[in-house]
Amino acid sequence: MSDLLNEKTPIKSRHIRPGQGEAVEVKAGQFLQIETLQGKQVADFVAFSLDDTGEFLSTAATRSTNGNIVPQLGMTLYSNRREPMFEIVEDTVGRHDMLYACCDPVRYEKLGAPGHANCREALTASLVGYGIGYDRIPDPINWFMTVSIQQRGELEIREPIAEAGDYVLVKALKDVVAAVSACPQDLTPTNAEHPTNLRVRVFRDEPLPAMTMREASQPVAEAEIVVAEVVEPEPAEAAVEAAPEPEPATVEAAPEPAPATEAAEQGAPSTVASSHGPSRPARLRDTAEATVVRVE
Ligand SMILES: [Zn+2]
Repeated sequence: MSDLLNEKTPIKSRHIRPGQGEAVEVKAGQFLQIETLQGKQVADFVAFSLDDTGEFLSTAATRSTNGNIVPQLGMTLYSNRREPMFEIVEDTVGRHDMLYACCDPVRYEKLGAPGHANCREALTASLVGYGIGYDRIPDPINWFMTVSIQQRGELEIREPIAEAGDYVLVKALKDVVAAVSACPQDLTPTNAEHPTNLRVRVFRDEPLPAMTMREASQPVAEAEIVVAEVVEPEPAEAAVEAAPEPEPATVEAAPEPAPATEAAEQGAPSTVASSHGPSRPARLRDTAEATVVRVE
């Protein structure tokens, strides 16, 4: 866990299976972490203002305002009203997408897999309590999705470079409901043909308080602070067709980042685990994939 996270207190935690979505409320000043537990798993991400769900995270406004088509560490993410919604404060990967639409039923029909689980319906289901229907799901930020951008703007989906335990941490600048889908795409390289679970956590921006006599006498306040890891109940209705069911044992066993030796086998530099710098994500460094071809 990073120094930044060590200074914060987790207050919500959700595991998300491929083909499922989860919505979590994040107050202004709180932090949202999205983690690929086993690596190479894309997280489709949308968010709405809690005050008015007509305001939502806009990839177009974010691209335009930043003059950049790839989410970057330190970048502010904007709403459709050009208001700041999030800031990217930590990123152990450095490679994400905000160009591609969610996978949806039509996408899978064209791939010859009608009825396939998909991100758009998963996000819709997660937001049903907020009155946000299918047609109001905005274009997402696709965390960990690796898209190669060619000289003339051609796009090519590649396997994510994110490894087990990689994550992004965003700070909410408004009160929002954020929804995350673990993309069930298993017919393209999007998730390395093997969708796996994500973990989403919300952190309060203060360290876990030391237990004192005074706090011990206030059980209600204490109970609000710590929320134990909750593995979501087995969803019988989660019909992830053609997506292999992840093995529960590996979910529990893989919360920590892969050791450097594993990263080296993947072709990444062996210094990855210890080279997280403040200005540049570790995995982006020395990675051929990081090269975005500039269009003159
Ligand atoms: Zn998807």
